[in-house]
Amino acid sequence: MNPHQIKLLELLKSNDKIVAMLAPSFAIDFPHPQIVGMLKKLGFEMVTELTFGARMVNYWYVEYIKQNPDQKMYIASPCPIVVSMIENKYPELKQYLIPYASPMYAMSKIVKKKYPDYKIVFISPCQAKRLLEAPKYPEFIDLVVTFKELKEVLDIQNIKAEDFTEPEYPFDSFVTEINKIYPISGGLAQTARIKSLFKPEEICITEGVENNIKILDELAAGNSPYRFIDILNCPGGCIGGPDIINQDLDIEEKKNRILAYRDKSIADQKDAVEGKKEFVLDIDFKAKL
Ligand code: SF4
Repeated sequence: MNPHQIKLLELLKSNDKIVAMLAPSFAIDFPHPQIVGMLKKLGFEMVTELTFGARMVNYWYVEYIKQNPDQKMYIASPCPIVVSMIENKYPELKQYLIPYASPMYAMSKIVKKKYPDYKIVFISPCQAKRLLEAPKYPEFIDLVVTFKELKEVLDIQNIKAEDFTEPEYPFDSFVTEINKIYPISGGLAQTARIKSLFKPEEICITEGVENNIKILDELAAGNSPYRFIDILNCPGGCIGGPDIINQDLDIEEKKNRILAYRDKSIADQKDAVEGKKEFVLDIDFKAKL
């Protein structure tokens, strides 16, 4: 086991109460709803997903755009690699990053408001969240483990999906929503209904390093028609994250797994207690850029 896996087991064995926050791309690698039961068996007191955090990020993105209508362009990315690339290689574009949190940070603040005594473990499709983003928020994120690392720990503890035979293992999350498509490239723009704010030719949805460099070069050179840029580092978005276990699946199959999970959740509406925007409007969701 690596140090992150050891720390996870130590946390779960301690007297602290621990929340698991699952990135929604989990649906590519782990069966739902069994994963919720598996995490509770592992020792998590609560298991939540990032849906409500993503919803609030969208809310503040749209508010920011409305309050700053004359800004030349708006770059929206919950991806720490993209943010780091802009900060280091395109500093002239940093002023256009919308200064609001990623769903991970937003959801951790929501969880801490409601459950201030809990520690938070984020379960991630990439190590970038651990290396580049979580260190900015040590008071909110106690540990990041990847899907691959979690699977190994579940295997070591002999926790298997087939042993979870109940029809439901409900999330302790706050809302069930369309935001479960956030890890798919364009999911942010779609769920924030960005089309209602910009002309189609002003919206750019991009993913993958090569595509992103081309777009960012054009934006930096000032010869781009785009005003809203939804940008993620990995191929296809976070569904192409390097620490997703099922790397052999193609992008379409990964998308289909997320869409099936989204559709099932919308259909059964049983996996969450509905969150209320009013409950978290006092939270400052600004990011540390
Ligand atoms: S999975 Fe890829 S696109 Fe998503 S946050 Fe991690 S590095 Fe960025």
